[in-house]
Amino acid sequence: MQKLTQKQVVELYNKPLMELLYEAATVHRQFHDPNKVQVSTLVSIKTGGCPEDCAYCPQAARYHTEVKAESLMSVEQVKAQALQAKAGGSSRICMGAAWRNVKDGAEFDQVLEMVRTLNKLDMEVCCTLGMITENQAKRLSEAGLYAYNHNIDSSEDYYEQIISTRSYKDRLQTIDNVRKTNITVCSGGIIGMGESMENRADMLITLASLSPHPESVPINALVPVEGTPMEEMAPVSIWEMVRMVATARILLPETQVRLSAGRTQMSQEGQALCFFAGANSIFAGDKLLTTPNPDVNEDMKMFEELGLILQKPFEKRPQPQTIEAENACFQTLGEKPKWTRPGHLIRRNIEKEKDNN
Ligand code: SF4
Repeated sequence: MQKLTQKQVVELYNKPLMELLYEAATVHRQFHDPNKVQVSTLVSIKTGGCPEDCAYCPQAARYHTEVKAESLMSVEQVKAQALQAKAGGSSRICMGAAWRNVKDGAEFDQVLEMVRTLNKLDMEVCCTLGMITENQAKRLSEAGLYAYNHNIDSSEDYYEQIISTRSYKDRLQTIDNVRKTNITVCSGGIIGMGESMENRADMLITLASLSPHPESVPINALVPVEGTPMEEMAPVSIWEMVRMVATARILLPETQVRLSAGRTQMSQEGQALCFFAGANSIFAGDKLLTTPNPDVNEDMKMFEELGLILQKPFEKRPQPQTIEAENACFQTLGEKPKWTRPGHLIRRNIEKEKDNN
């Protein structure tokens, strides 16, 4: 598909709904089995205490939320959760750590061991650990990582109103570092943070301008959490979600489009419309890192009702090989990368931080 301008994407998003749905569903059928859905489970392997200032996130240490900082989980704890997720129908396990970026050292070595362990369970293994260097991405790849998640969150313009501690450019650099390996890219964003339609269009254009397109694009609806600068944001309507999914499907035909945070605010009928519009993946589990998510059994009942069947692991590409630590080509470099700190002022974030002091 030729590259669309912001104006064209906004026009697409705003089309009469039935036309938009028909167009998106047609693209969906050309590239995917419309009756298949891929299920991932997100495990928060290192919760809270994050130094970043993402305005939507209850894990940021500077905001006072109910999330308490915890230390990195053990390999055995993560393995137990992965087995449970597999038994519940998940083909992918995604490990999330509330870090700004990966630092070489014992904790990263432990995460690499988690990747090796979970890949041997024949599940697709994904990590979301913040910014990573090329060598760190290569080490994850050798451990058997299938996907790396690094969301761009919003458009470059609007990003400056939600995060001041790291730059958009660094986020894209991390995606580029992942692309230097065989690891697939998972990158998407959040709607409902006060952004305009043009910002949403620009975010999708940025994702669609990545070459190749991310294999997976999560579309999150903001879950406003008490204590964060975005606690009072109005919920995203189901129509906005359906339009966003449909537009993403048309711009990113081969990508798996994921319904992510915000599903608890959506009815099953609303979710069904999203699947029709081209969503073909969800995150399962009672929690998405720290925010609530529908019950797994409810999800399975919904799939049965809709006649959706579960995508098996490695249907889209072969399982990566795990190379044991002692045989790995890429070893620790003891890197201390200098990722940017733009430090522009975001009034909403500063006020919320002051409220809490
Ligand atoms: S979104 Fe990630 S990087 Fe931002 S504050 Fe939350 S845990 Fe930290």
